[in-house]
Amino acid sequence: IPLTSYLSDTDTNFNSMPPASPAPTRAKAAIVALVRNSDLKGMRSTVRQIEDRFNHKFNYPYIFLNDQPFTDEFKHGISFVTNSEVRYGTLNASDWNLPDHMDPAKVELALEKNKHRYIYGGSLSYRFMCRFQSGLFFDHPLLQDLEYYWRIEPDVDYYCDIDYDPFLFMKENGYRYGFTIAPLEWKKTVETLWPTTLRWIQQNPHHLPDKSMIDWVVDNNGDYNMCHFWSNFEIVDLSLYRSEAYRSYFDYLDKSGGFFYERWGDAPVHSIAASMFLSRDEIHWFEDIGYNHPGNMHCPRPQELNLRCICDSTKSYTYRSHCQRRFAEVKDISKFDALQKVHA
Ligand code: GDP
Ligand code: MN
Repeated sequence: IPLTSYLSDTDTNFNSMPPASPAPTRAKAAIVALVRNSDLKGMRSTVRQIEDRFNHKFNYPYIFLNDQPFTDEFKHGISFVTNSEVRYGTLNASDWNLPDHMDPAKVELALEKNKHRYIYGGSLSYRFMCRFQSGLFFDHPLLQDLEYYWRIEPDVDYYCDIDYDPFLFMKENGYRYGFTIAPLEWKKTVETLWPTTLRWIQQNPHHLPDKSMIDWVVDNNGDYNMCHFWSNFEIVDLSLYRSEAYRSYFDYLDKSGGFFYERWGDAPVHSIAASMFLSRDEIHWFEDIGYNHPGNMHCPRPQELNLRCICDSTKSYTYRSHCQRRFAEVKDISKFDALQKVHA
């Protein structure tokens, strides 16, 4: 097969192998990453593992998004680690820029101030990334037809065989948000995220459901407890992010400027939203999916799960995690109690 058959100058690029025809039982879903050309090595490693553990049996398509056009080298490199369809997309300039309401001079001062206060404190591109992942990716044209997405990143590890379809599993069980690891956020990166969230709730109580898992993110003083789902892995019913409530919440956060003046991550934003808009039985911990992203690792402890994996569960962060324990115990509260709780 000539090289040119899988190198195309269009936005959508197909692999050298013909895509497997979708089985009727497959979900409308894809495995999605925002990634740089320079992440090729790490992305090949992740895709190879996803294929070996899961996707060689299911052939879900991959969607790679980038603020820069993908290089032929990137596409060529990926084509050797999967037989599934791969779609490549670039972002609109407006998705990777300071929104008009932001003051560039003020942003510059904020980056300077925060440069040494926390990781990525001085990085503008990291902030574009977090804002895109928070409120924009699900509207990208390549994701338009998807009901579910599975987010992946370069340089992560998947330790366990996954013999079922997690997307259909979500659908059949009414789950709308799935995660593996729930750590604590760095407080300094989200100093005004919670007060801003409370103001949004006060102005939009009609967007809160009758009951929710909001208690998971609120401490005894009514403050944000820093718990979040680590969004470098997430399997999500995209109707959550495309809902009127989520869009209204994101727009409000965006207008407040915290993605740039501070360094709000998409993980706390997704997580506060999921807790605020979903009930406990709509959120699923994929305990069976052993996973590592630099910094934290999850390895299943129950023996029947661990036997499918190549990891050491005694080294797993998740069985020590405060937020994970809280997730195991949390109960839904009513909308009335939620509004009381946040003094709205
Ligand atoms: P961390 O996990 O918070 O340390 O951040 P990462 O560096 O892993 O970035 C998160 C995701 O966004 C990864 O999939 C990166 O490849 C991607 N990413 C980060 N910065 C950029 C960027 O400037 N451009 C593009 N295209 N992707 C980026
Ligand atoms: Mn990462």
